[in-house]
Amino acid sequence: MIQLKTKEEIELIRDAAQLVGKALAEVGRHICPGVTTAFLDHIGEQFIRDNGGIPLCKGFEGFPSAFCISVNDVIVHGIPSDTLYLKEGDNVSVDCVIELNGYVGDSAYTFPVGEVSPEMQRLMRVTREALYIGLDKCKAGNRVGDIGHAVQQHCEKNGYNVVRELCGHGVGFQMHESPNVPNYGIVGTGPLLKDGMVIAVEPMVCQGSKNVKFSKEDGWTCRTKDGKMAAHFEHTVAIGKNGPDILSTFDYIENNK
Ligand code: MG
Ligand code: MG
Repeated sequence: MIQLKTKEEIELIRDAAQLVGKALAEVGRHICPGVTTAFLDHIGEQFIRDNGGIPLCKGFEGFPSAFCISVNDVIVHGIPSDTLYLKEGDNVSVDCVIELNGYVGDSAYTFPVGEVSPEMQRLMRVTREALYIGLDKCKAGNRVGDIGHAVQQHCEKNGYNVVRELCGHGVGFQMHESPNVPNYGIVGTGPLLKDGMVIAVEPMVCQGSKNVKFSKEDGWTCRTKDGKMAAHFEHTVAIGKNGPDILSTFDYIENNK
């Protein structure tokens, strides 16, 4: 069942989603060659707790960390590790879900580590663009398939592929709610978007084939099967009568807000 949110509830979800944006920026400030992903997770978790939030990934179905930190060919659900050191030219997707005052926000950002190649820059740019193109469809009267179609079109037009196994989702009262929001789809199909719905839109984009493999060791880490690079950006958004109300933000990352 899709649970609609009141205006007051949307404001509380916004507060949680804004804290996610601040936590991603805090982690981003520490991203450089030579740091471990476990160090980043530690910094970020401390920041969340200092600001009254609860990192919901930690403990979710046994996930061990506050953040999913996914490097290069890891698309999503990377587990922070004290033996994984970032190197110049990597890309690192940082994904975080926070509960604040009982409401939940979810956002992710892919950061470059130092100087990255033009190919990596292009993958990150196109994935970020696909997110905003998808968000543009988040308007009452459209359908979930309109979002997926727009994301998929933009990625495929640029020679990339979108992951099929994982998708966006409803969010706000809990970490994962209905509906699923795939990054592919057919215009005019899927659940109807209504005023008061809150969803996470999150393109997961592969440089090569769309096929993925999940780690047999930890059961979480999701990599590209061909070992090519991937990127991931995510916002929490409220569906409005006239268009999207993006509740999370990259302003703290990109504009030093
Ligand atoms: Mg997320
Ligand atoms: Mg999500």
